Amino acid sequence: MPTQINVLDLFRLDNKVALVTGGASGIGAAIATALAQAGASVAVHGNRRPATETAEAIGPKAAAFRADLSSTTGAADLFSQVKEKFGRVDIVVNNAGTIIRHAAEEYPIEDWRTVLQVNLTSVFQLSQLAARDMIERNKSENAEKRSSGKIVNIASLLSFQGGIRVPAYAASKGGVAQLTKALANEWAPKGIQVNAIAPGYFATMNTEALQADETRNRQILERIPAGRWGQPTDLAGAALFLSSAASDYVTGTVLTVDGGWMGR
Ligand code: NAP
Repeated sequence: MPTQINVLDLFRLDNKVALVTGGASGIGAAIATALAQAGASVAVHGNRRPATETAEAIGPKAAAFRADLSSTTGAADLFSQVKEKFGRVDIVVNNAGTIIRHAAEEYPIEDWRTVLQVNLTSVFQLSQLAARDMIERNKSENAEKRSSGKIVNIASLLSFQGGIRVPAYAASKGGVAQLTKALANEWAPKGIQVNAIAPGYFATMNTEALQADETRNRQILERIPAGRWGQPTDLAGAALFLSSAASDYVTGTVLTVDGGWMGR
C-alpha cells in the first residue's frame, strides 16, 4: 500500500465501470448498489426481469441491459452492449445464476445444459471477454503495475457440498470455484484479480420455497451459527472488497459469507 493513502480510499471505485449480471433483484441488486455507492458507474444486467428498477434506484451512473445467458451468444451480446454504452469494463461481477431441481437419475439433459451455460459457461465467456481488454490496458496504461481489472464470481456453498436434487447446480458452482482459481493463476501476472464469494443461505426469490418450508427453514437456521438468513446487503462489503484496490494482493480465493455455516 502506498504510504500516503488512507485505507478507506482503497475501497473507492471512482472512474471504474462495473458490470453486474443478474442485478434486477436479490444479491445482484445489492452488489450493484454497493459498487455505485463506492463511486463506480454500473451496468446492471437483467434477463426475464429487467434491471431498470435497480438502475433507476442507483441513479444516472447506472444503466440497465438485457441478455439471456442461457444462450451461447448471450455473454458476448451483453458485453458488446455494455462496451458500447460505457466504453470499458473494469469490474465484472458474475452473479446471474439459475437452479433447476430434479432427481439425478431423471435429470433432463436440456436442464443440465441450461444450468451449466448460465452458471458456468457464461461466467467463463464474460470473464474472457473482459480480461482481453483488461490485459491490453495492463500493457498500455500501467507503468506502476497496479490492478487492471477485477472479476468476482458468485459461487455457493454447493461449490463445496453436493446438495440433493441439484446435480447441475452443484457441478456448475463447483466449477465456478475451480474456474476462479484457474483464471486467477493465469491472469495475476497480467494485473487481474479473480475471486469468488460463496454465499450461504440468503433470503432472496431463489430461496423463497426453502424459507416457506417450516421444517427446512428450522433445520437451516439450526445449522447457521449466526442464527439467521443472510440479507443481500450482507454481501455488499465482501463484494466491494473484492472489486476494489483493497484486494489487489488477493486472488484465487473463494470467500464464504455464510453466517458461519462452513465452519460447523
Ligand atoms: P435471484 O434474485 O433469483 O437472482 C438470480 C439472477 O440470475 C436473476 O437476476 C436472474 O434473472 C438471473 N438469471 C437467471 N437465469 C438467467 C439467464 N438465463 N440469463 C441471464 N440471467 C439469468 O437470486 P439470488 O439469490 O440473488 O442469486 C444470485 C446469485 O447468488 C446466483 O448465482 C445464485 O446461485 C447465488 N447464490 C444464492 C444463494 C441464496 O441463498 N440466495 C446462495 C448461494 C448462491 P431473471 O430472473 O430475470 O431471469
